[in-house]
Amino acid sequence: MHELSLTESIVKICSEEALKNNLKRIEEIRLKVGELSGIVPDCIQYYFNIISKDTVLKGAVIKVEKIPMEIQCKDCNNICTVNKINFCCPNCGSFNIKILKGNEFYIDSIKGE
Ligand SMILES: [Zn+2]
Repeated sequence: MHELSLTESIVKICSEEALKNNLKRIEEIRLKVGELSGIVPDCIQYYFNIISKDTVLKGAVIKVEKIPMEIQCKDCNNICTVNKINFCCPNCGSFNIKILKGNEFYIDSIKGE
């Protein structure tokens, strides 16, 4: 459960951005979260509501876009997107794979006025 510390960094970064861009109110924060990161979006919104209570971010909605897992097979070089954790190449069945995408976690955009 590392959502709390992640949410604290989100609040910190977004507050700084709001200040920099002279925003009085933040409506929406978009996050990109990799399928493999294990982060639970509902937890983030929950913690966010608590932490952001006395900040300019109060009331903002967190939207999470999931990034699917992408793997590359080291044997046949096949690259593919898998929608669940699958550590075997669908092309040749090899377990000799590399994870290209799926561990991401970052703030994509902030909307406010
Ligand atoms: Zn393969």
